[in-house]
Amino acid sequence: MDGYAERGRERAFWARSRDLASRASDVHDVRAAGRLLWDHGIMHEVLLANPTGKPWCTGLAIAREAMAGPWPEGDLALSVTGLGVTPLLLAGGLQSSLDEIAAQKALAAFALTEPDAGSDAAALTTRAVRDGRGYQLHGVKRFISLGDEALFLTVFARTGEGNITAFLVRRAQPEIQTTMLENAGGEALYSIEFDGARTEAIVGLEGEGLRLALTTLGFFRASVGAQGIGIGRQALRLALARAASRRQFNRSIGSFGEVQSLLVESYLALLTARSVVRDAADRLDAGEEASQLSSAAKILGTEAGSRAADAAVAIFGGEGVLRDGPVFRLLERSRAPRIYEGANELQRHLVARWLLRQTDPLEEA
Ligand SMILES: Cc1cc2nc3c(=O)[nH]c(=O)nc-3n(C[C@H](O)[C@H](O)[C@H](O)COP(=O)(O)OP(=O)(O)OC[C@H]3O[C@@H](n4cnc5c(N)ncnc54)[C@H](O)[C@@H]3O)c2cc1C
Repeated sequence: MDGYAERGRERAFWARSRDLASRASDVHDVRAAGRLLWDHGIMHEVLLANPTGKPWCTGLAIAREAMAGPWPEGDLALSVTGLGVTPLLLAGGLQSSLDEIAAQKALAAFALTEPDAGSDAAALTTRAVRDGRGYQLHGVKRFISLGDEALFLTVFARTGEGNITAFLVRRAQPEIQTTMLENAGGEALYSIEFDGARTEAIVGLEGEGLRLALTTLGFFRASVGAQGIGIGRQALRLALARAASRRQFNRSIGSFGEVQSLLVESYLALLTARSVVRDAADRLDAGEEASQLSSAAKILGTEAGSRAADAAVAIFGGEGVLRDGPVFRLLERSRAPRIYEGANELQRHLVARWLLRQTDPLEEA
């Protein structure tokens, strides 16, 4: 029984997400993956149908855990579209754009990072210049997932002195050039150059962009932990099958204590991480401030995923490092989530800052 089994809505949602992920696991085109998520109501239920008007964080964690192992393209389409539309949900007033994304069963993207503004997003230099017809964008964004496939990009740019503002930008414009960035996880990742691209609308108020960006990332951070758990869960499944079937020294390798330790440690790390991810998601859905718990969820989930993938490589032996083999891909895919949406080292820094203000931190958790 899965860990979400006790609650009706979550249980049904888990079954739907897992079912779609296993049936769609050979759909590698990310736009097609997005359409399937719209067709099956998963995109809508997680992003647009929550009574709070914000993403359903528990649903997001459930879907990501179910999809990240067998169907990374589904996980990418859901999470990045979520990052793209959440600033619109938070700011309000752009319903027709949300309707257009849903009607076209399209993808959205979130363009914050720049060559010289990564962890320190407030240092961004992309400019939005006002003219008679609205704003024009000038600058470069880097590491933008779905930067080519999205219908709309939510772009964060500087407007005047010090102000950072969020803009909705239609991707298909000659003034927007994308360059694909090959990466270990095989994600659809781009550098984007804006050379006078037009904005569709301001998202929220002028000067409100950084707050919208950070609040959006706060809603998604714990779900990156769920993604790590999904990757680790797939690795553990493969490792268990291999430990049972592979024989050396006239025994199955699963009878060796060292192999058992690898399996047990993977399982314990995944199990612990999942309860923290779920707690953080529950609190976010309840409208509570949960930033240190979200940071902990991201660290624990992504690192449990890497640890389980690495253990699976060990258990597969030489087969484990074959580039096209199933476990090496999981190990590669487990690395980037420890960097994006706030590197784990930065999350540790934030947790440490919070810890030092507490007298009994577990009382708070
Ligand atoms: C696969 C992938 C997909 C991505 N998708 C998107 C996207 O869709 N949209 C988007 O806007 N961005 C995206 N990013 C960018 C991502 O969020 C940044 O890479 C990340 O924030 C880190 O920034 P950086 O790469 O510039 O590293 P840097 O900021 O240069 O940091 C390098 C390292 O320094 C350390 N470090 C930095 N600051 C601190 C600190 N305060 N405390 C402790 N350690 C610190 C960390 O170890 C960090 O990994 C993506 C990145 C990847 C790899």
